[in-house]
Amino acid sequence: MADRFFPNIMPDMVAEAPTPSPPQAEHGNDSLMNLLSTPCPSLSHLLKRAASDLKQTILTETWAGAAAAQSLHDFTLYSGALGTAFLLFKSYQVTGDANDITLCAQIVKACDSASLGSRDVVTFMCGRAGVCALGAVAAKHCGDSASLSYYLAQFREIKLSRSLPDELLYGKVGFLWACLFLNKHLGDGTISSAYMRAVVDEIIKNGRALGKGGRCPLMFEWYGEKYWGAAHGLAGIMHVLMDMELKPDEVEDVKGTLKYMINNRFPSGNYPASEEDRHRDVLVHWCHGAPGIALTLAKAAKVFGDKEFLEAAADAAEVVWKRGLLKRVGICHGISGNAYVFLSLYQLTGNVVFLYRAKAFACFLLDRSHKLILQGEMHRGDSPYSLFEGVGGMAYLLLDMLEPSQAKFPAYEH
Ligand SMILES: [Zn+2]
Repeated sequence: MADRFFPNIMPDMVAEAPTPSPPQAEHGNDSLMNLLSTPCPSLSHLLKRAASDLKQTILTETWAGAAAAQSLHDFTLYSGALGTAFLLFKSYQVTGDANDITLCAQIVKACDSASLGSRDVVTFMCGRAGVCALGAVAAKHCGDSASLSYYLAQFREIKLSRSLPDELLYGKVGFLWACLFLNKHLGDGTISSAYMRAVVDEIIKNGRALGKGGRCPLMFEWYGEKYWGAAHGLAGIMHVLMDMELKPDEVEDVKGTLKYMINNRFPSGNYPASEEDRHRDVLVHWCHGAPGIALTLAKAAKVFGDKEFLEAAADAAEVVWKRGLLKRVGICHGISGNAYVFLSLYQLTGNVVFLYRAKAFACFLLDRSHKLILQGEMHRGDSPYSLFEGVGGMAYLLLDMLEPSQAKFPAYEH
């Protein structure tokens, strides 16, 4: 079990040095400790530079060759070129650099061509909804009204098949997330609440049908397994449902589902990957385990104002602190994604311990990830430069660390 993560030997809390001073003064040659005690302005400078360097590498690896050859082998946000476009959108939001949004729009255009044959995958992370939604928002920022109309028209042509699962990566809530993204950036009503409501009706109906007779009010299946995590299961579905206009009985079912998960977590505070996998306390990922569920519980605490959810989210964050320094860099099942648990709790509570812990995970990556990957001690991800599996996620986190109160887990938190 221990070989999945690095033991976290970083102090539980380190106060920043009061004034900018040469970092070596405090902690000798321990470069990680020096980073942890570096005052915010100096650290921001380092984070910004590292994010910019990574962005250039990612562009070279995921876009330059594809643009020259005019072909993309993977258009998705999760593991392909749209993830690079989403990183550029983030960079534009943080730095205001117009080159970022122009290039973002160019990459989405290539993703549009590449995804025309994949109309049956409809989610933000893995399908055409992500391409059309980001395309529309980038077009708006570029002042390109023709492209804005085109992408919105394309988005409205997306059809949800009856056999579509309910989960986030490939299912209905992954499509609803794209609707929320459009409404957030282009204005309420861009996608009508009546249209989204029809999708919610289907999700609730499916969840109640499978939850019926069990102790959990809502339950869902993906490829025959009842997952709990953010990517394919309950946490991801509840996360998006909490952004919808729900009826009172539906609200009770969402709360009941989350309480069922809390009451049936492992003694360690971690969560099972699925109903079928209730005895294997191993995974501490956003996709499976405490991190993704912590983000959902933090959101529940915010939406419902219920102390039980806040306490459970903090318990899950403790698991992430102890076992979440994964031997992978990315957002989905790596250190970058796990850092967002602390950012979310920092935003909810204002507790600087959570801010420090996010900073600690980011500093660990900044200080060690390149070397550990070269040494083979850290997995570089199946798509090493992608947003969800590779260093794209690290670059995204470093940008978010520049303004921690505004940080949002990519394509998941609004
Ligand atoms: Zn994963």
